[in-house]
Amino acid sequence: MKLHDPQLLKQACYVAGNWVTAIDDAYTPVTNPSTGELIATVPSLGRDETLSAIHAAEKTQGEWAARTAKERATVLRRWYELIVENTEDLATILTLEQGKPLAEAKGEIIYAASFVEWYAEEAKRAYGEIIPSHKPDARILVSKQPIGVVGAITPWNFPAAMITRKCGPAFAAGCAVVLKPAPDTPLTALALAELADRAGIPAGLFSVITGDAVAIGGVLTESPVVKKISFTGSTGVGKLLMAQSADTVKKLALELGGNAPFIICDDADLDKAIDGVMVAKFRNAGQTCICANRIYVHDSVYDEFTAKLVEKVKALKVADGFEEGASLGPLINAAAVTKVQNHIDDAVAKGATLAYGEPQPEGTHFFPPQVLTEMNDDMLIASDETFGPVAALFRFSDDDEVIRRANHVSSGLASYAYTRSLSRAFKFSESLEYGMVGINEGLISTEVAPFGGVKESGLGREGARQGLEDFLETKYTLMGGL
Ligand code: ADP
Repeated sequence: MKLHDPQLLKQACYVAGNWVTAIDDAYTPVTNPSTGELIATVPSLGRDETLSAIHAAEKTQGEWAARTAKERATVLRRWYELIVENTEDLATILTLEQGKPLAEAKGEIIYAASFVEWYAEEAKRAYGEIIPSHKPDARILVSKQPIGVVGAITPWNFPAAMITRKCGPAFAAGCAVVLKPAPDTPLTALALAELADRAGIPAGLFSVITGDAVAIGGVLTESPVVKKISFTGSTGVGKLLMAQSADTVKKLALELGGNAPFIICDDADLDKAIDGVMVAKFRNAGQTCICANRIYVHDSVYDEFTAKLVEKVKALKVADGFEEGASLGPLINAAAVTKVQNHIDDAVAKGATLAYGEPQPEGTHFFPPQVLTEMNDDMLIASDETFGPVAALFRFSDDDEVIRRANHVSSGLASYAYTRSLSRAFKFSESLEYGMVGINEGLISTEVAPFGGVKESGLGREGARQGLEDFLETKYTLMGGL
């Protein structure tokens, strides 16, 4: 696949302002999940390189934080422009290593860039406050200061956006970042680092290290220099990083697994609900943590909804991400294929009906979209995130009952409800124990809103002004003796 700018395909890590190639010939292959072909190799680095990245981050962060917000904003703005100017190349790299259709990859690059743009603007608004004092000769000042050095660990499902969603606000706030991208998708991360360098992010402020996850994560969490861990990934690894961070009492931002309920009431606009399900379920082949996992359809519209959904699903085209008209690319790896198939087999064994779905072509990572009906709460899908293109339809007949069932999981990231009734809409918005609720909307992600979960789905928010707040400490100064 040809790039306009071949310099964006990096086979080296960006550590402390230098491009570091494999040490002792230790490298990790990056393969295309659609074809299995080798795309590139990246260095397998570990403890030592992570320590030098942290050291450089500490040295640079103070100087970066001392700049005016406007100066930091100018650099971020330039990074944003470079990302947008290089959308085609970045999307090509992203599709090569992740598999999603090229159009979706381009959409992700623009979405990723939007965080850098937003936080370039928001950098200037890290406002403090002056509180009316409790003493006549004193004043109470509250100011905001950057947290300092941040360790970031990101997943493969959004190889660009999960990085800018952390780095945009971190750099805006005056922090430095040492990033470990997912082993499946390091090339997008390294290309973003190249563009950050070109934009004028100072050497050392941003490092990207590929290699041994356990070693890199270990150093990031044990280092007293690192003040915050920002992680997006599985709940299990999130809990592990939380435990590892306890010794140094780090701040934590965790964006972990979801198991989103998608509720369709009897008074819903069914066509709009179908459009909502299509995007909330099948985007990125179902591999997002806000994908609809449990679709609850009111008994009185269940059959009509199922028939309409199947028609839409039949029109999806499963193909290599570079093929014209592809709507679903491959799943990321063989383990993902096995998990999705297990969820389907478990549901069918416990009484579900496969209303639509071609068999999974063995030996590939492609998974044709499936529609399962007559789901019940004993099936794996009811409690475990599928992360694949399976629309699982449950029946319900009462709002209180469906809210109870929707909330009956340990995760609490995204949820959705479709109804034309204003009072029901408010009831769902207020009763669903989730960090995010889409009412009559299936696509809720935007840089201007706070993304994040409750319960075991995580801590902190990314996006919006809350996203900047998460990289700032509050300092109170009592100015006495006045
Ligand atoms: P997934 O199952 O979706 O790959 P993971 O939570 O395993 O999700 O991966 C998300 C990110 O966490 C990746 O960058 C991965 O390399 C990293 N990771 C996995 N295990 C650890 C660990 N023990 N310490 C630090 N990072 C880890």
